Amino acid sequence: MKKIVKFGGSSLADANQFKKVYDIITSDESRHYVVPSAPGRRYDGDTKVTDLLYAAYYADDEATFKKTFEEIKDRYNSIIAGLKLDLSLEEEYQTIEKDFKAKIGVNYAASRGEYLNGIILANYLGFDFIDPATCIYIDSYGNYDYKKTDAILEKTLKNHDYAVIPGFYGQANDESGAIQTFSRGGSDVTGSVIARNSDVDLYENWTDVSGCLVCDPRIVDNPETIETITYKELRELSYMGASVLHENSIFPIRSQGIPIVIKNTNRPQDKGTIIVESTCHKPSHIITGIAGKKDMATIMIEKDMMNAEIGFGRKVLQVLEENGLSFEHMPSGIDTMTIVVNTKDFIEKEQNVIAGIHRAVNPDSITLESGLALIAIVGRGMKDGRGTAAKIFKSLANANINVKMIDQGSSELNIIVGVKNVHFEKAINAIYDEFITKEEA
Ligand code: ASP
Repeated sequence: MKKIVKFGGSSLADANQFKKVYDIITSDESRHYVVPSAPGRRYDGDTKVTDLLYAAYYADDEATFKKTFEEIKDRYNSIIAGLKLDLSLEEEYQTIEKDFKAKIGVNYAASRGEYLNGIILANYLGFDFIDPATCIYIDSYGNYDYKKTDAILEKTLKNHDYAVIPGFYGQANDESGAIQTFSRGGSDVTGSVIARNSDVDLYENWTDVSGCLVCDPRIVDNPETIETITYKELRELSYMGASVLHENSIFPIRSQGIPIVIKNTNRPQDKGTIIVESTCHKPSHIITGIAGKKDMATIMIEKDMMNAEIGFGRKVLQVLEENGLSFEHMPSGIDTMTIVVNTKDFIEKEQNVIAGIHRAVNPDSITLESGLALIAIVGRGMKDGRGTAAKIFKSLANANINVKMIDQGSSELNIIVGVKNVHFEKAINAIYDEFITKEEA
């Protein structure tokens, strides 16, 4: 058995957390590769080192830069002192300060959080240090370039039995050789990339919760933990806002079926959640999870005889493409077509989109509406079952909530409902009660 383990920012926020991480890693010889995040929040209201790095890079004046940079150095120095390590990062700090002043790139700036934490952790564990800038390639959109990476990373890892590889960054996949990061929270993706290119059997992702919850604990009190979830279910839930794992973490390992376990650094005895390609484990409930996002907008286009006009949909979608917009859903009727988009992305472009659609398809009317929330009810247990949709709508009706949109893909993995923003929390509670609380009673 060989494992890759990734530790999130809160698991490495201070010396005390580092000690827990040390105990976890050294208690099991199969934990060969370690991916650390940058130090995260130590308490409510604290600032993550990555955010301090962004702030330092964009500081308006020398005094602000100095103050923020000192704060960053203090975070690392207090970890080194707390662990009583014979290590100094002074030279690294000097190089980083010089590079910040030369404005060599914000991606470089953000990456130093993981880089420095990786050096400390490798020193503490006595493991090799591998700089991902030498073996992981990322494009300018923050997507991992598997062709370039796979060619080199596997060979690199073969030369290191036990190693620390900082998360979140790599090298840009162009000629620049600059540092490029994934999007925020991207150390999870690094963990998957390492798993893909090594002969590990398991990817353990250590964080500060004991696994994936059925829904957001800020919405439902004390929701259940999911024991087993499939890649596809997790992808649906992450896309809709569930935040335990970065939404792009599944892609690198999907073709290899390596399982991921979500574990709690502060409660290692908890079982956590296992994420697998496929499973015979019967889910505890028909639904596996509920997630959602607020603030969507709808563009409703009406035109008599729309159904007979071949190419209508393509022309409308081309207008969105020309405006650089992606759409979430597209429920349609005979003479109406509705497109659901994210309000934040849409708002600046709405008048261009309206004018573009008028030019492209000459509709009778276009109506915009905002304030829509989407809720995804996800579960492999729904397939071929009966009554899931009925239960969802009964629970919403009983809670006096009007359903504005419905979408179920033929994979039968999820049902998406649209409700008004104001009903979002109430709707999730109603669905949770119907499927989880009542099933348990
Ligand atoms: N430190 C980075 C962030 O705060 C990446 C990570 O933690 O995964 O987003």
